[in-house]
Amino acid sequence: MALTITEDCIACGVCLPECPVSAISEGDNEGDAYSIDSNVCVECKGHYDEPKCAEVCPVDACVPA
Ligand code: SF4
Ligand code: SF4
Repeated sequence: MALTITEDCIACGVCLPECPVSAISEGDNEGDAYSIDSNVCVECKGHYDEPKCAEVCPVDACVPA
């Protein structure tokens, strides 16, 4: 299981440093939606009670895949 980032992402960058397993990447071009590597995302299990990216995202773009 993993989270995914929707097209609502405004590429603010807030989530990227918050991920405990570095599963989040920027888009190829400035302004592109960020993405989550589903093979790396652990839904923050063992790190936080709730998915951190979803908690910090200002536009609720991090959702269950
Ligand atoms: S749910 Fe947690 S582990 Fe998965 S991408 Fe978000 S911050 Fe990273
Ligand atoms: S915090 Fe939300 S809007 Fe900002 S880069 Fe991450 S997914 Fe995109």
